[in-house]
Amino acid sequence: MKKIKLVMVGNGMAGVRTLEELLKLAPDMYDITVFGAEPHGNYNRIMLSPVLSGEQTIKDIMLNDVDWYRDNGITLHLNKKINRIDRKNRVVYAEDGTSAEYDRMILATGSNPFILPVPGNDLDGVIGFRDIHDVDAMIDASGKHKHAVVIGGGLLGLEAANGLMLRGMDVTVIHIGEWLMERQLDRTAARLLQKSLEEKGLRFLLQKQTELLVGNDGRVAGVRFKDGSEIPADLVVMAVGIRPNTALAESAGIHCNRGIVVNDTMQTYDPRIYAIGECVSHRGTSYGLVAPLFEMAKVCANHLAEMGIGRYVGSVTSTKLKVTGIDLFSAGNFGGGGQTEDIVLSDPVGGVYKKLVIQDNKLVGACLYGDTVDSAWYFQLLREGRNVSDIRDHLMFGQSNLGDGGHAGQNKAAAMTDEMEVCGCNGVCKGDIVKAIKEKGLFTLDDVKKHTKAASSCGSCSGLVEQILSSTLGGDYSATPAVKPVCGCTERTHDEVRAAIRDHKLLSIPDTMKFLEWRTPDGCATCRPALNYYLISTWPGEARDDAQSRFVNERVHANIQKDGTYSVVPRMWGGKTTAADLRRIADVAD
Ligand SMILES: Cc1cc2nc3c(=O)[nH]c(=O)nc-3n(C[C@H](O)[C@H](O)[C@H](O)COP(=O)(O)OP(=O)(O)OC[C@H]3O[C@@H](n4cnc5c(N)ncnc54)[C@H](O)[C@@H]3O)c2cc1C
Repeated sequence: MKKIKLVMVGNGMAGVRTLEELLKLAPDMYDITVFGAEPHGNYNRIMLSPVLSGEQTIKDIMLNDVDWYRDNGITLHLNKKINRIDRKNRVVYAEDGTSAEYDRMILATGSNPFILPVPGNDLDGVIGFRDIHDVDAMIDASGKHKHAVVIGGGLLGLEAANGLMLRGMDVTVIHIGEWLMERQLDRTAARLLQKSLEEKGLRFLLQKQTELLVGNDGRVAGVRFKDGSEIPADLVVMAVGIRPNTALAESAGIHCNRGIVVNDTMQTYDPRIYAIGECVSHRGTSYGLVAPLFEMAKVCANHLAEMGIGRYVGSVTSTKLKVTGIDLFSAGNFGGGGQTEDIVLSDPVGGVYKKLVIQDNKLVGACLYGDTVDSAWYFQLLREGRNVSDIRDHLMFGQSNLGDGGHAGQNKAAAMTDEMEVCGCNGVCKGDIVKAIKEKGLFTLDDVKKHTKAASSCGSCSGLVEQILSSTLGGDYSATPAVKPVCGCTERTHDEVRAAIRDHKLLSIPDTMKFLEWRTPDGCATCRPALNYYLISTWPGEARDDAQSRFVNERVHANIQKDGTYSVVPRMWGGKTTAADLRRIADVAD
């Protein structure tokens, strides 16, 4: 049978997820061609922040490399931007003249970063934070320049600022609002966040309006504000919002209203053309987080597979910040006010703040800072609109303290129902994970990531996934950590690596990798810093220090101060400690 021609424009997260879903449902139905303006396969855009901060590499965040397209019979055109759709003859054209005919099309063109329309915004060194190219430019600038300014104190701006700081730059965040992340946090939570980030070394200027960017010899040199003040800047990152990328659709006469307007089956006003992801406007809303886009992807694939069951009806979203050491969660109407009642727990000294917003006996919003272990549960209650009057007294203390006769004392995972969502980014529920663990014989977090995609995007649910592994496998799982390798580059555990370094007097990363038969030639962002730490702590003064690995360790795991000393905050679970624990901390300090 002749296959239907499907062309996809945009090779990003939403589009490729749609193809993955489609291939599961109807692997032989379409002859698929993909055009991507970027020169890369499909990567996890979310994880650009850890790449910028040096905690991950581009290789780590690839979701589908070019082999995947080949293996699935997909024709892939990288580095080819489509600039014309001929809807009458059903052909798309790329800038270089490459063309492809279609019977059906998916537009998945994502968003563009909004660049403030101020004088100087076209100077060298002024960029957005959207793709690998931007991250490369930031890493390059951090090696040559000192002063970075990030305009925008939202999620993206703070992750950019943190990454640049970890790369050694002096970073100032400019924010027009009264407090950071005002769309996700209330004033109290934002203050705690700002304090933690200031302790790490970031500077903030709030309620500042940028007037212009000062240039010097074609490159940005400073930022001037409306109040006349000015600060130096060799790099300016604009993180003030995104705009759905509708240019191509508009030029083809497809109805757009801020985003490309779609119905509940993700079809545009031209029913042969679907649109998916950040570029769309669905029921008047455009989304900027992956969870809703993946829900759209399922529906779109379903319809393309002609299964016709499934409508996208909109999503409730939640937010987390990917800055190591900062736990933050927000969802729904976190601000409260009006007809709502707020339950608040505030411990500024302990750095914990929790606010739950209730309306008509339902949880309608949550804002958590410092302790987010119950975020999945709160999010579930919120999305289900469950009546919480019977558990209201205990709501603040989390799911495992319900005292409902069944769950107290068990870990969070055991208390979760199968329908509860674990990984918001990829829409994976507890039941999916348990099923995969049992049916596919999974034992490690990496296995679960690979088979279910849970914990493979922002990674903040990794702890919960480990708990599910533990509660599903019971005794079997407790054996797992003992043989857990350092990372995918080796089968050796941390203890085995340390022993080899000590017993065989290994003095460099390459020697250690060779001796222990590492699987990869250069290791990865997980094993290199670990090896470097073991080497220089075992053979101080003798082992060869790897500057980049040391840098990652110092910036990520210890809070290095300007004078070269470190501050380390020991964690004491439940606030309890013993004389022996304190002695151990003193040993570490020595
Ligand atoms: C640094 C960063 C951190 C983030 N963190 C989070 C997070 O923690 N949690 C979360 O949920 N979301 C996060 N997001 C948002 C998330 O990455 C996006 O919601 C998601 O990537 C959008 O997917 P998409 O497919 O719609 O667009 P994209 O992934 O942007 O893909 C669109 C692709 O289409 C290509 N394209 C555009 N026009 C054309 C054309 N004419 N021809 C060919 N190709 C074209 C673009 O080059 C791009 O590759 C983050 C985003 C960034 C940038």
